[in-house]
Amino acid sequence: MTLRIDATHDAALRSWVDSANPAASDFPIQNLPFGIFRRRGGPDAPHGGIAIGDRILDLPACLAAGLFTGLAVQAAGACGETSLNALLTLGRGCWSDLRRQASGLLREGDTRIRLHADWETRLLLPMGDAELFLPAAIGDYTDFYASVFHATNVGGLFRPDQPLLPNYKHLPIGYHGRASSIVVSGTPVRRPSGQSKADDAPDPVFGPSKVLDYEVEAGFLVGPGNRLGEPIAIGDAEDHLFGMCLLNDWSARDIQKWEYQPLGPFLAKSFATSLSPWVVTLDALEPYRVPAFARPGGDPAVLPHLDQAAQARRAGLNATFELFLSTPKMRENGTAPFRLSRANSRDLYWTPGQMLAHHASNGCNLRPGDLLGSGTLSGPAKENEGCLLELNRGGKEPISLPDGETRRFLLDGDEVILKGYCEAEGFARIGLGECRGLILPALAPAAAAAGKIPRGPA
Ligand code: MN
Repeated sequence: MTLRIDATHDAALRSWVDSANPAASDFPIQNLPFGIFRRRGGPDAPHGGIAIGDRILDLPACLAAGLFTGLAVQAAGACGETSLNALLTLGRGCWSDLRRQASGLLREGDTRIRLHADWETRLLLPMGDAELFLPAAIGDYTDFYASVFHATNVGGLFRPDQPLLPNYKHLPIGYHGRASSIVVSGTPVRRPSGQSKADDAPDPVFGPSKVLDYEVEAGFLVGPGNRLGEPIAIGDAEDHLFGMCLLNDWSARDIQKWEYQPLGPFLAKSFATSLSPWVVTLDALEPYRVPAFARPGGDPAVLPHLDQAAQARRAGLNATFELFLSTPKMRENGTAPFRLSRANSRDLYWTPGQMLAHHASNGCNLRPGDLLGSGTLSGPAKENEGCLLELNRGGKEPISLPDGETRRFLLDGDEVILKGYCEAEGFARIGLGECRGLILPALAPAAAAAGKIPRGPA
């Protein structure tokens, strides 16, 4: 398969929107990610837009102004709903045409938007005046475990004698996550309570998790689905993927340790998952495709239904993910958020296409708006480790922060900020925006039991 590079990826392309300078913004004209927004305090229901610099192109408003033609009319029409699901159903042809026409409207010298007197308030809203929502109505969420570095590090903590289980290199391991507790970036996250049992304690106890962690992950939104009973061929897998987000799979390690055998994670993860609002399309990611992870010699060959040989040169994705921590003391002191993790999705043992094809290989029907998480992104180096459990060696080695603080795991008031970006020689840098969440204290058991539950995030 050849690289699908076109005029929308040209590094020399500039937008007449000043803030969309690729040196200064995650959202230059080469990116054009999709999301759901509405004007803060305005009468409109949430609907679809494209981020450009520090502004949002209002897709239904541009459609009403007659700015789209052809397939993009259908695509922009699908963006009038409160989620991108209708757009996701339409498929790559429609998505690509809408992105291409948006690129044309926003490029330097094009005046079609500015011919409309109220363009600044109606067609191209300042992002600061907008509320952002989850990009999709997520019916099902599946989280994988696709980083062999993460699986080896964490497996070694739980099972020192056998870090990688025998199936790991034959199929992408995953579990069914919880869709109802996925929240958009900026939504505070309440510390969960649950059962845990210390190694030296005779019995388990119920109470607030003491071992709260983050997981740096890539999230992939499913586009068109498949019919129940009909698998998706590995060669077609990416036709069913719309784009990529930032995902933080919050994890309560004490709850996880006590509950995870024999059926895997349950309440340790279902209390919250944070997602970034802007979805970077596979079209925009085209320049940053790289060969799939090079399996070390001696690793088993993949079975035919997961064999991506035809896409081998571009089956992987070169995207950097960075996670920053901001503690209450750091905010008080004006100290910048401190980077804890930096990983790259090119280090994933399994590609997004393999995860999707494997998911559907038994005939399970995927649906538009389903979310696939990559699993914690870790790499070969210490600084690539994508969660605290790895960085602190199972709680044994506290991490030093600026201002003299240390952390083993997250404390109340800590804010976790995940960012991501793609760079490639000869192309513009594009970003994934950010995915942030502030830890709120657990509910007091008495208040919870009496049903006097303070209003938390919606
Ligand atoms: Mn995870």
